[in-house]
Amino acid sequence: MNTQQKVAFITGGNRGIGLETARGLGRLGIEVVIGVRDPDKGEEAVAALRNEGIHASAIGFDATKPATFQAVYDHFASQYGRLDILVNNAGIALGDFFAPNASTVSQDVLRRTFDVNFFAVIELTQILLPLIRQAPAGRIVNLSSILGSLGTHCAPDSPIAPAKEVAYNASKTALNAYTVHLAAELADTPIKVNSAHPGWVKTDMGGPNAPMDIADGGKTSVQLATLPADGPTGGFFHMGEALPW
Ligand code: NAP
Repeated sequence: MNTQQKVAFITGGNRGIGLETARGLGRLGIEVVIGVRDPDKGEEAVAALRNEGIHASAIGFDATKPATFQAVYDHFASQYGRLDILVNNAGIALGDFFAPNASTVSQDVLRRTFDVNFFAVIELTQILLPLIRQAPAGRIVNLSSILGSLGTHCAPDSPIAPAKEVAYNASKTALNAYTVHLAAELADTPIKVNSAHPGWVKTDMGGPNAPMDIADGGKTSVQLATLPADGPTGGFFHMGEALPW
């Protein structure tokens, strides 16, 4: 890569919103590295991106295997010496979004959900932060969800009132807290940290009834990953609109 070209790391980049985010960033001339659990799926996604003229590659990343986090660090340290953009996109939802379960959810579901959606994000971000500090204008995007918005859950006639699967929702609320805390800690640096609600998107997770097409699903992440120097930090956004925490 030439030294001016930005490089981005997108976790869970082989399909869904992550792949669309890689595509969107790649179209802007940013080199994209996707984090993938399965090398074959990674190769397929990289081939699709390269077919569109995007400078793309894949590296092994599994949110449940912290040894892969260090390998990601080593890759960026040796190949680029910095990381301009980190998109913490990989996420899981183990239950039915519309099956309220605060009184019944198992410890197993809670812990597995938080492991991927929350703990892994913090651990990976902490490991990569020294490289993000080396970039002139580091950007960190945490893929949250409107389902993590307590303000929206509690609003009268809330549009998300029926969606009360607590493990997923609480993991995204916690992730939002991390966004606020990390952004505050980095306020004196050029690094911006924001939470994204991509929309309810037709992916494997979002399902076929989601109103938003996959082609639009990466737009919020791309926007937050490429914010200008006077852009916001420590916020929660969907397509440029601020959301309540
Ligand atoms: P998706 O279609 O289910 O794709 C999830 C991606 O995450 C896949 O690449 C998957 O890899 C990866 N992943 C899952 N578990 C992982 C693990 N343990 N380690 C590493 N990667 C893992 O989901 P999506 O709809 O694109 O969602 C992307 C993000 O947006 C998630 O954080 C989600 O919570 C959030 N979001 C989605 C919606 C929506 O409507 N779709 C709405 C709000 C927020 P494999 O292919 O190997 O499984």
